[in-house]
Amino acid sequence: MPEHTTSPRPPSRPRRRRRLVAGCVVVAASLALAGCGTANGALRPEPSTTVSVTAPPTSSTSSAGAPSSGAPVSARPSAPGPASKPAAPRSGTPSPAAPRSGTPKPPPPATTPTPAPAAATTTPAPPVSGVSTAVVRSTASGGRTVALTFDDGPGRATGEILDLLARYGAKATFCQIGRQAAADPAVVKRIRAAGHRLCDHSVNHPQPFASLTHEKAVYEISAAKDMIVQAGGPGTEVPWFRAPGGGFTADNQRVAADHGLRPLGWSVDPRDWSRPGVASIVSTVQSQLRPGGVILLHDGGGDRGQTVAALKQLLPWLVAQGYRFDFPAR
Ligand SMILES: [Zn+2]
Repeated sequence: MPEHTTSPRPPSRPRRRRRLVAGCVVVAASLALAGCGTANGALRPEPSTTVSVTAPPTSSTSSAGAPSSGAPVSARPSAPGPASKPAAPRSGTPSPAAPRSGTPKPPPPATTPTPAPAAATTTPAPPVSGVSTAVVRSTASGGRTVALTFDDGPGRATGEILDLLARYGAKATFCQIGRQAAADPAVVKRIRAAGHRLCDHSVNHPQPFASLTHEKAVYEISAAKDMIVQAGGPGTEVPWFRAPGGGFTADNQRVAADHGLRPLGWSVDPRDWSRPGVASIVSTVQSQLRPGGVILLHDGGGDRGQTVAALKQLLPWLVAQGYRFDFPAR
């Protein structure tokens, strides 16, 4: 599901973009994935780059790396082991595999037998972080609580939304685009200082996120977390990952969990990104919200005037309804 229509594209990645668009076309051809060609955001194909869109799915197209069956990308047999974090760009930590200062060690005594290849090799190990791979769609506390979540920021509306939340004593979770967090660290620090929480929403918001290669998903998830932590300063926690457009797969959920990020969904989506009108946003939330629900809203990705206006009605309504503001479960 595209979340917004005006997210700026990454400035200079024509080669990578073309390749991903091609992958999108292949997946669309093989899976009949509705909406792929109209996906918004960073990967929207331009007419000049969509030559292959009209081409029939020939065998040469399907041999371009995408599975020709309906198997999801996550079905590939890659990386079942512990989350060996692929060398994130600009990570300043040296590789742990380079001590080489002392004398070369003799081979270890043969007291410890090599571990027997048990049956565990066939079942995927639990995430090294201990974080669940399951998408969470409810609050941490349950009961008459609600979790407000804001995606695609930080953006122009973030400050005004923070002001509104403060007026009602509301806490929220901000699912941030990594490169935008890196560009505006002051607002990330303000979010933290006000007691809100942060969530990873990928580096570039590519869509459809579910069709990314494993390697690309690892980069989008892990580097965005690093960018948000860097922007927020020491001690910044990022407990969740929300896939752009909700494009979760078993593979990217596992990648997220391996990086300590619980996949975060929602239970109420008023589609504020599409600017359906303030009344529509308000009535959808009021009719669909149940205790323990997670509401999806946006503080970035375009003009959020309707979202702000809806919040001015929804915040007092939530308080009057006896809701307490909570964070999503972890
Ligand atoms: Zn988004």
